[in-house]
Amino acid sequence: MRNVIIIGSGPAGWTAAIYAARADLNPLLFEGAEPGGQLMTTTEVENFPGFEHGVQGPDLMAVMRKQAQRFETEIISSMVDSLKQIEGGFEVTAAGKAYQAKTVILSTGATARRLGLENEKRLYGQGVSACATCDGFFFKNKNVIVVGGGDSAMEESSFLTRFASKVYLVHRRDEFRASKIMQERVKNNPKIEIIFNTEVVDILGKDKVEGVVLKDVQSGETREMQIDGVFAAIGHEPNVSLVKGLLDLDEKNYVKTVPGSSKTNIPGLFACGDVQDARYRQAVTAAGSGCMAALDAEKFLSDNE
Ligand code: NAP
Repeated sequence: MRNVIIIGSGPAGWTAAIYAARADLNPLLFEGAEPGGQLMTTTEVENFPGFEHGVQGPDLMAVMRKQAQRFETEIISSMVDSLKQIEGGFEVTAAGKAYQAKTVILSTGATARRLGLENEKRLYGQGVSACATCDGFFFKNKNVIVVGGGDSAMEESSFLTRFASKVYLVHRRDEFRASKIMQERVKNNPKIEIIFNTEVVDILGKDKVEGVVLKDVQSGETREMQIDGVFAAIGHEPNVSLVKGLLDLDEKNYVKTVPGSSKTNIPGLFACGDVQDARYRQAVTAAGSGCMAALDAEKFLSDNE
């Protein structure tokens, strides 16, 4: 039985691995279906301390991975299929094999939310996207819509102006929740037009996006608009499918942790990063909580020796 298994490879998972490995716990980390997590679909990260001139999200994750490997973290590049409690610890299955550990650190992160429209599903990848970094290039000299009013929506719309001739930023209220500096960047960008109090209620097009139906939430009126692309930047859902029924979740489905620690309701099972953080959701807070989880696991192991 191993000391610690870490599930997830975002900033929280890699930081937990670095700390656990340096504490001689020989961690095993499962990278999951999207190694590196959400930072893999970000461009410039300007607020991670230590990078005076910013760093590309994927570069930051590559460095964290290498740092964890340097201290001999064992890495398995697959998805974990199940997690259960067994005598003296936990059992994880992945790709048909079982692995046991005395402690588990859950750092499965969160996933981008969808608008929930039938045609969004049908036209996904045909003009509908949740990732400007991945798909922006396909919209050279085209017109696109970004939906949302948070930092992601600001970031995505600014980024898309590199390619698109026009970006419409559609938000359901009359004010953004994004940080002031990012709002200003959007407002000062002549290629971005802001449309407040409006929802996208349908996406039109046979084989690719050709338009949307917009609804004015105040008057209830709808109108069609020609458009080539729709980017939803409307927040995230925590990735908790592995622990549903096992761990206590809060009203938004995030894993509940004891305040000021990474402890869940099950001793020996710790959670860190976005899967347990509906509030801050920053790379640096995720990394900080990954450190907490490794220290909590180390303490748990020494207390139970
Ligand atoms: P967010 O802050 O939760 O914002 C989601 C936005 O989408 C809100 O404006 C919300 O509207 C809207 N929305 C939600 N569901 C919707 C729906 N079904 N239809 C239409 N609109 C919908 O999410 P986020 O922008 O992804 O940011 C998450 C966290 O990451 C934040 O803490 C943010 O600061 C951080 N972040 C930071 C950076 C950076 O600093 N570089 C970049 C990106 C994200 P309401 O406002 O009406 O609720």
